[in-house]
Amino acid sequence: MAENEKSGNDGQRAWLGTLLSYSGRCKGRMAGSLLASILSVAAGFVPFYAVYRIMTAAMEGRLTFEAALPWLCLAAGSYVVSKVLFGVSTLLSHMSAYTILETLRRDFIDKLMRASLGTVQGKSIGQIKSVFLDRIEGVEVPLAHMIPELSGSMLLALGLAAWLVAIDWRMALACLVSVPIGLAVFASSLKEFNARYAAYMAESNHVNSVIVEYIEGIQVVKAFNQATDSYRKYADAVRSFKDYTMGWFRSTWVGMNLMASIMPTTLLGVVPAGLWLYFEGALAPSELAMCVILALSIVDPITRFTSFVNEMKSMEYAVSDTREFLDLPELAEPDGRAETSGASIALDHVSFSYDGGNEVIHDVSLRMPQGSFCALVGPSGSGKSTLARLIARHWDVQGGSVSVGGVDVRKMPLDQLSELVSFVAQDNYLFDATIRENIRLGRPQATDEEVAAAARAACCEEFVKRLPQGIDTPAGEAGGALSGGERQRISIARAILKDAPIVLLDEATAFTDPENEDKIQRSIARLAAGKTLVVIAHRLSTITSADCIVVIDQGRIVDQGKHRELLGRCPLYARMWQAHIGAKAWAAGSSDREGSSR
Ligand code: ADP
Repeated sequence: MAENEKSGNDGQRAWLGTLLSYSGRCKGRMAGSLLASILSVAAGFVPFYAVYRIMTAAMEGRLTFEAALPWLCLAAGSYVVSKVLFGVSTLLSHMSAYTILETLRRDFIDKLMRASLGTVQGKSIGQIKSVFLDRIEGVEVPLAHMIPELSGSMLLALGLAAWLVAIDWRMALACLVSVPIGLAVFASSLKEFNARYAAYMAESNHVNSVIVEYIEGIQVVKAFNQATDSYRKYADAVRSFKDYTMGWFRSTWVGMNLMASIMPTTLLGVVPAGLWLYFEGALAPSELAMCVILALSIVDPITRFTSFVNEMKSMEYAVSDTREFLDLPELAEPDGRAETSGASIALDHVSFSYDGGNEVIHDVSLRMPQGSFCALVGPSGSGKSTLARLIARHWDVQGGSVSVGGVDVRKMPLDQLSELVSFVAQDNYLFDATIRENIRLGRPQATDEEVAAAARAACCEEFVKRLPQGIDTPAGEAGGALSGGERQRISIARAILKDAPIVLLDEATAFTDPENEDKIQRSIARLAAGKTLVVIAHRLSTITSADCIVVIDQGRIVDQGKHRELLGRCPLYARMWQAHIGAKAWAAGSSDREGSSR
């Protein structure tokens, strides 16, 4: 906890450094943007100087059109140059900002790939979406405008003040006398800014997560007629956010308006002081007029500078939220590929807990030779899926070791492990691409013929034909027309195409109609031919031929052996078998009953 706080504080302090460290690929553009901004400000001074020269000539009674014309042209020309340079600066700063955004988003995804699945799943979808899209996007506007506008405003204000000093330091003082008062009022309204901003972000995060939760759960809300209660929670969060922001606004609007009124009053000091110095003979009329112009011009850059305070704070939060993800611990992996031999699996005294405390796997040791068929069976929650996930290194074990091909999975790169192992899970995620592309994910370089062959082997052909564009139907469009079993066959086709020597299969609990089951079994047989197959078994009749059935209960291996042996000596297995047979007979009976009643 203390660690987290410390790194959070460090993160906040170093936010600008972090942001700039992502600018590696656009250093040149950022420098160019800054340079163009400086040159734009410098060119912006020329019209002032031209006006000054024209005024001087007029007041000395020697102004002619011919004499004024070059100054007018210079003023107009440098105005255009100044605006063009400002445009160039903004263009370059936007390009830099989007490059930084791209780099941040890429690193974000890289990190999610390298962190353990547990670490990633520990974050809510709402939180990931908010950082990945909104927070990172929120950096763009301030970043793109800060470089040209902030640096330009600062330089312009400093340049104008220096010019006033050059004319008469007393005029500079008179001009800037209201600025400290305005800034003092501004600073007092910012007194509790940090604390208030932190509370604002907490409110904003809360309302975000309540909205996501409400929308994600809308099916349950409707099904259980919970509209009133759930809506109240949602409405309360929205109202509380509005109340907080309104309260904050009310507490600052006097200060902000005072500042906005005081800051532009540079003429309050400049006019009386200028007239006095003029009558004293210390100021020429043209100098007096120039001081008035400068005093009016300095207001805008100073007020613009203050408007960045809020935006800088929002960037600070965006960067520290993003860093929370960028600093997630990664699964350690070696650089070079490991020398594996074969496709055996070995677990040696493996212990594991999801939360670092509550152990769910206790001292499990298991050998699965290359090419064998091993089934993990046990009551729900006994640890079957966890063991399979540990083999695929979705998590790292806390005690003991998991080896694949004779090598500890922690001692081989994740890519290499992924080449060796296919995991066919129950919740088969289809990406928003065509069915062909979804299958091709198994081996991106596969030809269309190879994809079609894998689809055939996984018994996908007949339902794919039914779809409007066949195998080229987008999975999203087809989604509603696909049953759970068909979706699983697509992911089996994906695994067939991948052709990894080890297959981990979480047998489907649903879609057990006989026709579907038969097709799934046939496609699994094709997928598993010649492979090391580990099945998380839910229907024992599908694994009676396994080389080894491992019975697991409460995270421990209770027994292991062949079906017949276990029936004779393992009471838990015998009970599960009886229950399964009974359920099958009941299902068969009920379908017979349905048949005869028709
Ligand atoms: P099975 O596959 O045999 O049904 P699991 O391996 O899914 O069992 O679960 C084993 C134990 O680990 C259960 O007590 C379950 O509640 C717990 N568990 C499973 N997944 C997680 C997770 N992501 N986070 C925390 N605990 C989990």
